[in-house]
Amino acid sequence: MKLHEYQSKQIFSRYGIPIPRGRVAATAGEARHIAEELGGRVVVKAQVLVGGRGKAGGVKVAKDPTEAELLATQILSMDIKGLPVRKVLVDEAAAIEQEIYLGITNDRAAKKPVIMCSAAGGVDIEEVARVSPEKIIKVHVNPLLGIKDYQTRDIAAGIDLPREYWKSFGDILKGLWQAFEDNDATLAEINPLIISKDKRLIALDGKMLIDDNALFRHPDLSEMRDTDEDAPSEVEARKYGLTFIKLDGNVGCMVNGAGLAMATMDILKFFGGAPANFLDIGGGAGAEKVAAAMRIILADPNVKAILINIFGGITRCDEVAKGLITAMEEVRPNVPMVVRLVGTNAEEGRAMLANASMITAETLAEAAQKAVAAAKGA
Ligand code: GDP
Ligand code: MN
Repeated sequence: MKLHEYQSKQIFSRYGIPIPRGRVAATAGEARHIAEELGGRVVVKAQVLVGGRGKAGGVKVAKDPTEAELLATQILSMDIKGLPVRKVLVDEAAAIEQEIYLGITNDRAAKKPVIMCSAAGGVDIEEVARVSPEKIIKVHVNPLLGIKDYQTRDIAAGIDLPREYWKSFGDILKGLWQAFEDNDATLAEINPLIISKDKRLIALDGKMLIDDNALFRHPDLSEMRDTDEDAPSEVEARKYGLTFIKLDGNVGCMVNGAGLAMATMDILKFFGGAPANFLDIGGGAGAEKVAAAMRIILADPNVKAILINIFGGITRCDEVAKGLITAMEEVRPNVPMVVRLVGTNAEEGRAMLANASMITAETLAEAAQKAVAAAKGA
């Protein structure tokens, strides 16, 4: 889950990281009001869940409240990379001496968190990473030990940070680590961390990604979710506790278990088909969940056939069949459906589906071939 800049910076500030004073506005009038409160120059920043806002014109400095209102009007009417801007952050403007990049993420290959830092921060960091990767320092963290003072000093020296900032930089890096760790983040990033003309380090921008699988223990963070960036089908799926990922093939898949869902997608491809989605209805899914899954699959106009592959264990095949029948009454699907049910109560399930004009199959290979053929014939 992505957090907005203003949310990330609020979290950072709880960990002692200096951020500019500022607040979020949903209207230009509010933006003006905030600018009046702050006094002086402000920066008006689009709050959208994509990178590169600055380059897209979504970050602008205003000299007074009137200009802040005008810029907020403009920015609030923008779409940035397809996402509508619904809020702006109005921060006191900073005078920048230098822009530093500082981020923590997981290095999957090393199986450890890694700190990345560069003296060449700012909007061109991707370019720096591509053209001169040696300008980005990487230091791994032992998650059991956390960040040690020698590491913060190594990094500060590595980016040629003047000595006077080392203490403050060390505190910021430790705060960022704690924010990353405590919130089960997969990314905590400050770009830019600036040296201001009045000789302070300030986090001017902030970005956090939170591991979805850890959200159950962070209800406060879950509430911060902005569903604007998600496909509507994924939002709907989350509501029913289904794991759904939209893909671009034409065979809709409904499977119980993530591993079986992966295997089902593989075998579809093996027989020349392409899955329209990954969908794990989970263990023990009842009729209501199955019906929701069916609606979600059928909402995709690319779907030309549906493959239902259920290996009944905790999930009972008769419950799945009941869900399918409910869903078919509700959504009246007009695409062929291939069903393979095995395991707990498979007999009962098949009997229930006997009158429900579905193509049945005994094995996964047979089911996949029938689904691919049905999608082609449709
Ligand atoms: P991003 O483009 O989405 O990463 O948005 P940022 O918040 O990082 O802003 C982009 C760039 O705008 C920064 O790298 C700065 O160069 C500039 N910027 C942002 N805030 C201020 C500010 O308060 N004062 C000045 N002078 N420039 C700013
Ligand atoms: Mn930035």
